[in-house]
Amino acid sequence: METQELATRRSALVSKFGPAKIDALIVSSAPNIRYLTGFTGSNGLVLAAPSATVLFTDPRYAIQATQQTDCKVVVARGPLYPALMRAAARRRLRRLGFEKARLGYDAFEHLRELLPLGASLHGVGGMVESLRMVKSPAEIERIRRSVAVNSSAFDAALKIVQPGMKESDLAAEIEYRMRLLGAERPAFDSIVAAGARSALPHAEPGTDTLGNNRLLLIDIGATVDGYASDMTRVAFLGKPGRKIRSLYQAVLEAQLAGIDAVGPGVSAGKVDAAARRVLRAKGLDKAFVHSTGHGLGLEIHEPPRLGKGDSTALEAGMVITVEPGAYLEGFGGVRIEDTVVVTSSGCEVLTPTSKELFLL
Ligand code: ZN
Ligand code: ZN
Repeated sequence: METQELATRRSALVSKFGPAKIDALIVSSAPNIRYLTGFTGSNGLVLAAPSATVLFTDPRYAIQATQQTDCKVVVARGPLYPALMRAAARRRLRRLGFEKARLGYDAFEHLRELLPLGASLHGVGGMVESLRMVKSPAEIERIRRSVAVNSSAFDAALKIVQPGMKESDLAAEIEYRMRLLGAERPAFDSIVAAGARSALPHAEPGTDTLGNNRLLLIDIGATVDGYASDMTRVAFLGKPGRKIRSLYQAVLEAQLAGIDAVGPGVSAGKVDAAARRVLRAKGLDKAFVHSTGHGLGLEIHEPPRLGKGDSTALEAGMVITVEPGAYLEGFGGVRIEDTVVVTSSGCEVLTPTSKELFLL
């Protein structure tokens, strides 16, 4: 990420310190550290203060850190927390915020023991995450590439689907193709679920074969340049009966209604309600057991959550999924999911893949 963009993010963060009554923020979560500094190593800690942002890491990452970030880097030969607290004391930072949803209790206790005289710790919720909700053009470009890789991997994998293939083998094929197409890794554990197992919204691919005359639900995402994509499509191996076709049609209509509702100023809950209304009219409201979507970016699940009654107002630049589903135990399930960016006039569906029921 460009140095200028990283600096802009850090000044946006620092402008939140006054209202939150903190002098500095201790950032311990890897995606938030990456967002603020560009550093991608597995062991890092950040002290963000108005005067400077300091990144702490260990000798394994000494070279990488100076290549990736324009922040001051401190290489500690031991635990990072004491080094961070020494820096806070030297800078006379008193009211230290920490990420209460991200810091483990062990680490919290450790920090408390290390507190300099006169300093105090203050739990802060979602401060960096709220900045991350609205993506910059450069971030949207990365997500666009991630979506393209994901859809290409899906297209390639569909060509090799055979009834005798195991769910886990198809998942492996998809992930292999993702990497060949330029992904660092899958954004989450791929979901490949055949037959009645498609009614498990988060099924783990197993040794079941795809089979004949069965539903096949595929929910996959790629990570490209750090950014996630997320898509669900459903195929049928054979000729689907009426029940499957009407179930599919209902979910498709719900998904289109959800996308139609997306726009700046619209509450996240309103998008959820739009999708839910369609399924309720078809008697499928009890079969829709999750929320309609979620934000995504450096992580696969980020705020906002598009759930019942959620009042978060959507803004241009937010990237979200729209993914209603209907799951019938013992029969099967359908979910259709796109990655969508909110624009100044509505939204743009980034996912290029067809939303027809794929007949294989
Ligand atoms: Zn998904
Ligand atoms: Zn999703």
